[in-house]
Amino acid sequence: MLDTARIRADTPAYADRTGEPPVFLDSAGSSLPPRVVLDTVIEHLRREAEIGGYRAATERLDDLAGVKSAIGTLINADPTAIALSDSASRAWSDFFYAVPLVPGDRILISGSDYASNAIAALQRARAAGATVEAIPSDETGQLDLAALDSMLDERVRIVSLLHVPTNGGLVNPVAEATRIAHRVGALVLLDACQSAGQLRLDVAELGVDAMSATGRKWLRGPRGTGFLYVRPQVCRELEPSRLDLHSASWTGPQEYRLAAGATRFEFWECDVAARLGLGAAVQYLLDVGPDAVFATIAAHARRLREGLGAVTGVTLRDLGTAHAGIVSFTVDGRDSVEVWKQLRQADITVTVSHSGSTLLDMSARGLDSVVRASPHCFVDTAELDRFLTAVADLAR
Ligand SMILES: *Cc1c(COP(=O)(O)O)cnc(C)c1O
Repeated sequence: MLDTARIRADTPAYADRTGEPPVFLDSAGSSLPPRVVLDTVIEHLRREAEIGGYRAATERLDDLAGVKSAIGTLINADPTAIALSDSASRAWSDFFYAVPLVPGDRILISGSDYASNAIAALQRARAAGATVEAIPSDETGQLDLAALDSMLDERVRIVSLLHVPTNGGLVNPVAEATRIAHRVGALVLLDACQSAGQLRLDVAELGVDAMSATGRKWLRGPRGTGFLYVRPQVCRELEPSRLDLHSASWTGPQEYRLAAGATRFEFWECDVAARLGLGAAVQYLLDVGPDAVFATIAAHARRLREGLGAVTGVTLRDLGTAHAGIVSFTVDGRDSVEVWKQLRQADITVTVSHSGSTLLDMSARGLDSVVRASPHCFVDTAELDRFLTAVADLAR
C-alpha cells in the first residue's frame, strides 16, 4: 500500500499550497515533481552560479553516474546500455537514424504510433527509398499480432512499437510482438514514453532492441530530460548519425573511435541540473516502491473509467483489453477544447489529445480530439471524484 499522505507531503504542489488542492490529471503531459527533484535542480543551478558549471559538475560525478544506475534498476538494464537525452523524441530518433536503410527496406510502425516517430520514419523512407507501413490494430484496438506476423519478411528492418499511446489507456503486447519481429531479424524500437514511471518495464523480459522514454511525464522528472536504452549486442553494430567528442574520440588525423556502450548516443553538453533532477526523480520512485505507485495509478484510472462510464453523454475512448493510467473520453456535443477550458476554470488540469499526435488511430476512429485524464499516485480519491462531478455537470 502506498502512503499517499507521505507522497503528497513530498510534493510542493500540495504541501506548499494553502486552500483547496488542485485536481491534477496530467501526468501523461507534464507531471508534478517531488520536492527532491525541484531542490536538486535549483541547488545545482545555484552551485553553477557560485563556482562555474565545470567545477559544479565535478562535485557531482557520483550522482551523475547514479542517474543511469537508477534508470538501469528501474528497467532492469546495465547502466552502460543507457544514454541520457533531452527528450523521448530525441532518444527515439537517435536510435532510429542510426539504423542503416537501403532501397526496398520496410519500416513498420504501430497503428497508435506517435506523430514524431511516424514523421521521422517517413523522412528516412523518402531519403532511402524505403517504405513505411502501419501494423493494423485488432478488433479491440491493440496491436494485431497475427497481422504483424503476416507482414514480416526479411526486408523489414525496423519495427516501431508503441507501449502506451499518448491518446489513451491501451497497453500493447510488446513482448509478444518483439518475439514475432525478431523471427525475421527486424530491430524493435519501443516508445515507452507513456509507460516509464507508471508500468513495470523490464527490457530483458520485453526483449526490445531499444527503448525511449521522457523524464517529465510519469517519472515526475524535470522537463528537457529523457533516455534511450540500447541492447548491448545491437549497440555495438550501430553508428549514430551525429557524433561529438563524447560519443567518439579523435584518435588520429583521419580517425575516430566510437565510445563504448550507449554513450555513443550522447553528446557532451547537457543540462546537468536537469539530469541530476531526473536521477532524483527515478531514485524517489525506487525509494517509495514502484509496484505500489503503479498499482495506485491503475486503481485511480479504473475509478475514473468506471465513473465516466456511468455518466450519460460521456463516451470512453480507451482501446484494447489491458489498460494503463491514461483515461480518454469525449463529451457528446461538446468540443474537447471546450471541455478542457471549463475544467481548467474549476482548477482541474487535463489535456486534449488531437488527431495530429496519433493520426492513424484517430482518423480510423473518426476522432478529431479526445480529453485525456492521467492521474498519478499523488492524486487522492476526493480529487478524482471532484473531476467526475465536474464532467457530469458538463455533460448535462
Ligand atoms: C510525449 C510522447 C512522446 C514524446 O516525448 P518528448 O519527451 O516530448 O519527446 C513520444 N511518444 C509518446 C507516446 C508520447 O506520449
